[in-house]
Amino acid sequence: MDLDLSPYLRSEYHSPSQGTRVVSEAWVGHELYCASCGSDLTSYRANTPVYDFYSAACGERFQLKASKAPMKNRVMGAKFDRLWQSILSNSQPSLVLLHYDRPKWRVQDLSVIHRACITESCIHRRKPLKETAKRAGWEGCDIILKDIPELGKIPVVTEGKIRDKRLVLEQWKQSSKLLGVNPLNRGWLADVLRCVERLYVDFRVSDVYSFEEELARLHPANRNVKAKIRQQLQRLRDLGILKPVSRGEYRYLGHQNES
Ligand SMILES: [Zn+2]
Repeated sequence: MDLDLSPYLRSEYHSPSQGTRVVSEAWVGHELYCASCGSDLTSYRANTPVYDFYSAACGERFQLKASKAPMKNRVMGAKFDRLWQSILSNSQPSLVLLHYDRPKWRVQDLSVIHRACITESCIHRRKPLKETAKRAGWEGCDIILKDIPELGKIPVVTEGKIRDKRLVLEQWKQSSKLLGVNPLNRGWLADVLRCVERLYVDFRVSDVYSFEEELARLHPANRNVKAKIRQQLQRLRDLGILKPVSRGEYRYLGHQNES
């Protein structure tokens, strides 16, 4: 993978943002591989809403978000209703987040957000646009990156360093397991998984109870948070993301940090 974007620079841009779009799309089409199967990505025709690339080999679809600023907190999502419907029907694309250095035109960071981890928990609904706006009543949303489990944030390039492709494909495979759960239940699952990721690799069910208040705030309608926690841990076990090691104790098999 060559991180240099400059071969894709052309002079006919109409605006700087279009320039970014053209250059980053061309780069992804030539250099990036499908995080699911490792084969080439194909670009959709221009102006295809939501989807930018697909893998002809496995059918996975991707949407590209490119920026010269690091994408640390949030990325802008589509119309809220449309994103929510696509989550329910398992048709939302995974996200390719590309941060590049502008004067150098070089890829700095690139990660793939697995579509299985884009759940109701990480979508922040925006206020509808005012009456006076061109698209009055239009309700957009943001995707809040810190509310996505680390398992579903798959680094490909970090600070200009390319990660081993084998590890990318492995992490994709692990996060794909979440697709085994109904989209309506994936928000809770993602929230409990984020708690698990903050604990040691081996942990007790009671350790996860220490997040009870935090989870209760996220799910105010739920009366029995502890029961819900136990249910999610069982789901994660059934998916092969947690392994029971002794009574009341689990091991997180999610994504091993390479060193
Ligand atoms: Zn593929």
